[in-house]
Amino acid sequence: MELVQTSNDAITLENKYGAHNYHPLPVVLAKGEGVYVWDVEGKKYFDFLSSYSAVNQGHCHPRIVGALKEQADKLTLTSRAFYNDVLGPYEKYVTEYFGFDKVLPMNTGAEAVETAIKICRKWGYEKKGVAENQGKIIVFDQNFHGRTTTIISFSSDPDARKNFGPYTSGFIKIPYNDPKALAEALKEDGIVGVLIEPIQGEAGVFVPDEGFLNEVASLCKSHNVLFMADEIQTGIGRTGGLLAICGNCDCAGHCEKQSTYATPDLLILGKAISGGVYPVSAVLANDEIMEVITPGTHGSTFGGNPLAGAVAMAALEVIRDEKLTQNARKLGELFRDRMNKFIERTELVTLVRGKGLLNAIVINDTEDSSTAWDICVALKENGLLAKPTHGNIIRFAPPLVMTEEELHSCCDIIESTILEFTAV
Ligand SMILES: *Cc1c(COP(=O)(O)O)cnc(C)c1O
Repeated sequence: MELVQTSNDAITLENKYGAHNYHPLPVVLAKGEGVYVWDVEGKKYFDFLSSYSAVNQGHCHPRIVGALKEQADKLTLTSRAFYNDVLGPYEKYVTEYFGFDKVLPMNTGAEAVETAIKICRKWGYEKKGVAENQGKIIVFDQNFHGRTTTIISFSSDPDARKNFGPYTSGFIKIPYNDPKALAEALKEDGIVGVLIEPIQGEAGVFVPDEGFLNEVASLCKSHNVLFMADEIQTGIGRTGGLLAICGNCDCAGHCEKQSTYATPDLLILGKAISGGVYPVSAVLANDEIMEVITPGTHGSTFGGNPLAGAVAMAALEVIRDEKLTQNARKLGELFRDRMNKFIERTELVTLVRGKGLLNAIVINDTEDSSTAWDICVALKENGLLAKPTHGNIIRFAPPLVMTEEELHSCCDIIESTILEFTAV
């Protein structure tokens, strides 16, 4: 394989030979370690995106990469035509970790969401008694659950949807963070589930009001519909709880202390469940739900392969052993404290919001201006990588292995860059 010599070469090749389905910041990365990445020319950056929260454990974590290498020398893929000696131990590990009876292993986030939708519909027909093909799932405005044809069928984003129809039917979209709208929608016949991001990441890190998720859970329970939590971006320590639905602890929604449990019926995980080392995703549920899945009803050649199992176990061990959930909580408060003080010194930022180390700042400009993009380019020049999300919003989500001192250095870069920007 021929390697590129310069960043420009790499960008030229991607532009010429790759489909243009992304609009990357003009930086070409060649190496990563912990919270740092290096470009082809050797310039060092703080990663403040963490591959959309897939590398919560930091880049190339030695324990996770070690597990990958060790397993790669033994056995990589059997397909599910046969058993393998890693899948069972992984399934035991991951179900105990999150407190569910069973797991269905897949590879990508979108596949896990598709899996949850299929389980939910089948449960609706076989357990709830909804008439076949009449099941409906409630989703939320501005949702992001992936890119498959079914998932984009209920997206609010015109770029994600336009000219990809005909769309999959059976979804009802309601406003986020509005329990009344949910209660109203649940009155309709044939509802089988509610699919929700506990914090809307892609939409610009929208954190719902305190109590909203518990209300969703209890409304689902009282209407006998499945509560499906898409924790692909928010889970695995990112928001200062093991899952965002946990609030501030490691309970996976099964907290003894909480009076009402926001435990989902279907928990959807992806991204950081592998530490960004290998595509791994999962849907977790208890037996009375998961038992609707029988041989032939669902599957994936790579889902549940031994490499994935070894990597995911190591990645989850790192979260626990290095207390990354707790670190995310502590550093998140520090970050929002500093940004809240900072926004008093600039006209350019109107708001900081988020939870744990999933945060965003809202730029004071029209939605279609390029200010957030321009700030991200300037941040890059100053050694910190972040990306705008929809509208004029910049998401800040560093790896959870960051130290307090490093976080302060990052805040210094963000503040001075934005102040420079104001001066221009
Ligand atoms: C990233 C993401 C997905 C899709 O995951 P892919 O691995 O990109 O398919 C789904 N839901 C949420 C909330 C995400 O952040």
